[in-house]
Amino acid sequence: TVAEPPVDPGAARDVRPGLMERADLAAYRAVVRKPTHVPYRGMDVYGMPPSSSGGATIGEALDILGNFRLDARDPVTALHYYLEASKLAYADRGRYLGDADKVRVPLDELLSAGFARERACLIKPDRAAPAPVAPGSPDGRYEPCVPPGTQTRALAFEGPQTTHLVVADKWGNVASYTVSIEQFGGSGITVPGRGFLLNNELTDFSFQPPAPGQAPDPNLPGPHKRPRSSMSPTLVLEDGRPKLALGTPGGSTIITTVLQILMNRIDLGMDLPAALNAPRATQRNTPLVYAEQPFLDRYGRDLAARGHRLEVFPGPPAGVIGAATALEFLRPGLVQAVAEPVRRGGGSALVVHPAR
Ligand code: GLU
Repeated sequence: TVAEPPVDPGAARDVRPGLMERADLAAYRAVVRKPTHVPYRGMDVYGMPPSSSGGATIGEALDILGNFRLDARDPVTALHYYLEASKLAYADRGRYLGDADKVRVPLDELLSAGFARERACLIKPDRAAPAPVAPGSPDGRYEPCVPPGTQTRALAFEGPQTTHLVVADKWGNVASYTVSIEQFGGSGITVPGRGFLLNNELTDFSFQPPAPGQAPDPNLPGPHKRPRSSMSPTLVLEDGRPKLALGTPGGSTIITTVLQILMNRIDLGMDLPAALNAPRATQRNTPLVYAEQPFLDRYGRDLAARGHRLEVFPGPPAGVIGAATALEFLRPGLVQAVAEPVRRGGGSALVVHPAR
């Protein structure tokens, strides 16, 4: 199908054959890698390791946020720290994250408390740093405050999104699962007679070679290399027991959406439905912060006063960031299932086999 893509005679699209062969499929292996882990406010947050950037970037941002007091009585300050922490973590994502089998990813240092402190030092409580900010140096030698370097890079094109589900059973198994064929409809090519779509995940590679003098991009395409994803299926444990399970589609906004929900739930005193429903903003180390309209209405003016430049999220879909699903384990035997009440027409959350 890849070599001879079926094309509707009336189609206007330019469908080109790909280079994949049967041997490539035969050689494919699903690899099992150790999840990322960071402690946060006495809990343990586990995420997806490289080649996804999700667990590492959320983990680093949480590590940075752990240096600050976030308070529900001052949501603007909390959101300011959230935007600044994700800005810094995204700078490091662009510089250091790729397929760990093909490039050296300094994961332990990126998720170390020392590196997070060094990065947190750059955050001013009352003033947003002009974005893009430079990546840090996760080299094991951390100073109280290291002045930022100058190397920056733009956020490359990254495809939009698919879907996420979370599920738990009565035996205590929990699955948090981003079902991605990269974007809605993937490549748009269905395998005849088989009923499934082929993905277009290769678009998650970076395709611009770094500018002269810039460090090599860890996410350039390469033989047998996996593209850098943003998928962030996340599990939070408290005292070794499941507390939260969550995730969302949204391409590179996945990371900030999961981070914002965690902050809403853990730091800002919202229950899980409110944490999902709250208006969202995403700062991915770009000059502008993109946000949903209700977020702009509520916090836009106060955040602009701290130097953030905000605009409505262009999409797709326009104005809507993410479509999260989540579970909270309230107490043994009692699980709260939560989906979006409004975004993308609302999600689905239910109990299949209720028990008293
Ligand atoms: N392919 C993108 C990624 O892996 C999108 C994932 C999604 O939004 O489901 O980051």
